Amino acid sequence: MAKKFFAGVDIGGTKILAAVVSARGEILGREKASTPRGRGAKAVLAAVAEVLEGAMRDAEVKPRRLKAVGVGVPGVVDARGGRVLVAPNIPIAGAPIARELSRRFGAPVVLGNDVNAGLLGERWLGAARGVDDAVGIFPGTGVGGGVISGGRLVTGAHGAAAELGHIVLNPGGPLCGCGARGCLEAYASRTAIERDIREGARLGRATRVSELNGGRLDVIKSRVLAEALRLGDELVLDVMRAAAQRLGEGCVAARHCFDPRLIVLGGGLIEACGGFILPIVRQRLAADPLFKRVGPCRVAAARLGDDAGVLGAAALALARD
Ligand SMILES: [Zn+2]
Repeated sequence: MAKKFFAGVDIGGTKILAAVVSARGEILGREKASTPRGRGAKAVLAAVAEVLEGAMRDAEVKPRRLKAVGVGVPGVVDARGGRVLVAPNIPIAGAPIARELSRRFGAPVVLGNDVNAGLLGERWLGAARGVDDAVGIFPGTGVGGGVISGGRLVTGAHGAAAELGHIVLNPGGPLCGCGARGCLEAYASRTAIERDIREGARLGRATRVSELNGGRLDVIKSRVLAEALRLGDELVLDVMRAAAQRLGEGCVAARHCFDPRLIVLGGGLIEACGGFILPIVRQRLAADPLFKRVGPCRVAAARLGDDAGVLGAAALALARD
């Protein structure tokens, strides 16, 4: 029997999702589970294997028909796609994930950064279809990045290329999760937006966010931000406008490095608030003097939505095939 199916696994800080995918990108089966907390790499690996088995049962596909498996991880993965070097939210750094899964499922396994995977997925089936030079920037808890140049994913000497969230916009700026100051992530992640809304509220600015968000200001859901924008909440408008402008500056920097034809913005924040954010980003890009005479660069929202993680991971497997 021909091996013709791919699997994509998306390991997140809270959930692990897996799907079995055809070579044309149809999802044939899926499964998910919570990411085990505080029990180390072994527990995460066991959960990944179980979720992948569940997706294969759901798709009625036997392991011997798997061509390759892609695994997306929020972190830095080594250049060969075998090990995770840095993963701030999941205890899997250093674990030989690709080797273990490959032994268990009898198929090649490729690990990759989740936003790199997300951009590959968008190129395969979404907003960047057919585009050979594309940049992806996905603001979420952090700000992830991905670059496809000349049709190939740019991974760098150690696998850590395209960490666009850590472009320094202001060396004296707010502290970033990476330890530096003034990174794009420290201005335009949901974490940074939450921080600035809390600060505004603390200084006594009127806002309805707390009311819309069940009385809390620690974690603010993307759909609450979208609702506050719709209601014309001035604090949220100000904070989101500033974050979108910083995101635009990040896009300008990425454009100067890679001259993409398209920048894909993705993630839950963009899905909920893209209508507000994208025009500001486009305006910032259009104002860039250097590229005015070079050529256009489109900005589009990602299209794969909830399936972006697993389809992106499957695209990683496909790209290495
Ligand atoms: Zn940083």
